[in-house]
Amino acid sequence: MMERMFGRPIVTQEEMHTRIRELGRQITADYADKDLILVGILKGAYAFYADLARAIRLPLRVDFLIAASYGGKGKSSGKVKMMTDLTEDIAGCDVLLVEDIVDSGLTVQYLTKQLSKRKPKSIKVCALLSKPERRKVNVTVHYVGYSIPNKYVVGYGLDYQQKYRNLPYLAVLDIVDDEGQGF
Ligand code: 5GP
Repeated sequence: MMERMFGRPIVTQEEMHTRIRELGRQITADYADKDLILVGILKGAYAFYADLARAIRLPLRVDFLIAASYGGKGKSSGKVKMMTDLTEDIAGCDVLLVEDIVDSGLTVQYLTKQLSKRKPKSIKVCALLSKPERRKVNVTVHYVGYSIPNKYVVGYGLDYQQKYRNLPYLAVLDIVDDEGQGF
């Protein structure tokens, strides 16, 4: 079975779309009078970003950056690097960072700090997923799709060794990594 190979589904495609429409409605209301620029953190956020952007009924601008943690293999080593930069000037704009998952919080903390130097009017974070148990630093995630337990998830943009990103639902991968994360 395909599903078996790809792990156990935890959030279906339908559930995901319903939740993203809700987030879109909330963001539409919150940013109605603002100059919104939606900054996607690639690669992981690509699927969520595309659905979220279309669920927000505002004339927003889109931009992207590629962030990577030095450690690789999907887990954060604590050192984050911006591999590519934005193309838009964000000074005076209302930036909403769109992330796949907030785990330790280090990626979001680093990017918020870097982008704040460019003097946006505001900077907030929207993540499809959050694993509060794993947090190492205190970051505010203003919009969260789902808070999930400490399991390694793939699909809907999230990878395991760069694969499974195209899975249309979210699944727990049946593996154990060397930090004991996952299952
Ligand atoms: P943080 O800096 O918050 O620890 O890590 C964020 C990044 O770690 C995410 O953008 C994602 O790339 C990766 N990550 C954390 N947990 C998971 C997970 O369960 N599955 C996958 N595929 N990536 C994860």
